Amino acid sequence: MCLKKFDAIIIGAGVIGCSISLALARRGLKTLNLDTLPSAGYGSTSHSSAIVRPFYSHEVSCAIAHEARHRWLGWREFLGYAPGPIAHYVETGGLVLVRDGTEHQYENNLDVMGKVGVEFQMLLPREIEKMYPGINLQAFGPPRRPNEAGFGEPVAGEISSGIYIPASGYVSDPQLAANNLKVAAEYEGSTFRFNDRVTNILRTDGSVSGVQLNEDDIISAPIIVNAAGPHSYVINEMAGIASELKITTKPHRHEVAYLKAPPGYRQKPAFIVDLDAGVYQRPDSVDMLIGSADPDCDPPEIVNPDEYNDQHTQQWTTQVIRAAQRWPELGIENNARGTVGLYDVSDDWIPIYDRTDLPGYYLAIGTSGNQFKNAPVVGELMATIIENKHHDSAPSSLNLENIKRAVNLSFYSRNRDIQKTASVMA
Ligand SMILES: Cc1cc2nc3c(=O)[nH]c(=O)nc-3n(C[C@H](O)[C@H](O)[C@H](O)COP(=O)(O)OP(=O)(O)OC[C@H]3O[C@@H](n4cnc5c(N)ncnc54)[C@H](O)[C@@H]3O)c2cc1C
Repeated sequence: MCLKKFDAIIIGAGVIGCSISLALARRGLKTLNLDTLPSAGYGSTSHSSAIVRPFYSHEVSCAIAHEARHRWLGWREFLGYAPGPIAHYVETGGLVLVRDGTEHQYENNLDVMGKVGVEFQMLLPREIEKMYPGINLQAFGPPRRPNEAGFGEPVAGEISSGIYIPASGYVSDPQLAANNLKVAAEYEGSTFRFNDRVTNILRTDGSVSGVQLNEDDIISAPIIVNAAGPHSYVINEMAGIASELKITTKPHRHEVAYLKAPPGYRQKPAFIVDLDAGVYQRPDSVDMLIGSADPDCDPPEIVNPDEYNDQHTQQWTTQVIRAAQRWPELGIENNARGTVGLYDVSDDWIPIYDRTDLPGYYLAIGTSGNQFKNAPVVGELMATIIENKHHDSAPSSLNLENIKRAVNLSFYSRNRDIQKTASVMA
């Protein structure tokens, strides 16, 4: 029984799905977002560290992130309609700690920031110590597992410089940000249905024609967008295209610790990347949030997105001890506080924003633990790809009005060669 017809169905109402419906609705499409969960942004978005930083090793990634930061700065204006509370972007600045001998790892990042026009300063160790009294700039890396000899002990070498990027920060409440997008999209005419699981993607004459829900409802649309976050591979299997994709996506489990921030950090609570220790930090009120920079020694935890352990484990303690190497005043609390969420990781940690060989079926997947920041751009990006029927042969470009440049969206192609990506840190 066909209950409803829409111009486009977006599977998922996370920050990405909500941004897509807003952009499509602004172009006059009648959209429907479907989500298994009870409200917008309740999936992996709600666990996000929500860090906004332009520090990427690819020029398109840097440009999109820098453009998105402008949109976070003007969030209310971007939303257009925002009757209730809105998320806030807090510009803390960002500091990348560089260990002696590893400067080459960051050459691409500095190069692309220069090309995109992102300002940065190089700091000397004494300037870092002045910024953060009590910080320990001894080297500890490469990071080890807790059961390995030398875990937590310093090694020869030191943090020899810092890359300070003022245009970095975080968004106060990622779930609220998704809800802000939903409310703005509804104002433009979008529809949202929650507590509904898509169980099948339907085809007619070789093109997508709708979705089936768990209660045997069928909803029709000629456009379907997979924005299902860590369930993206499940939806691709339903669509029958999973085996054809050159780049795959998998759900990775991640823990983030929240602890009372050490006094030296509170003087300048910025976003900090510390690949030598294997962690990143950002402030959260009086707390310090500690996430993993995914060092090579930590095996990826690939899980079933419907049945994963959402409690903290030894990994919480591992990340906290890694951070405590740098911050000796960090008090390690007895009760593990924080969050456990899933990344939807692509083979090269770059998302797939693209059409597919199945007419009408689009992908906004593989956000790889680093695309929350880009959500205000991704909606428009996907709408541009959807509008361009020839995106494969004549790739779309997206105009980034705030930073006054255009980017070629073939960067996010499903058919790209797997890219070499520097460490992903939120
Ligand atoms: C711990 C953690 C830290 C992070 N830190 C950062 C950071 O600092 N900076 C940054 O930029 N990014 C960060 N990220 C990544 C960022 O949060 C994600 O890229 C982003 O939130 C993904 O949004 P999404 O809408 O694609 O996915 P989700 O928010 O997961 O939304 C997908 C939705 O699809 C729904 N769905 C799935 N299957 C179905 C189905 N069959 N039927 C109906 N609905 C379905 C789900 O219920 C879910 O709500 C982090 C992520 C995590 C987990």
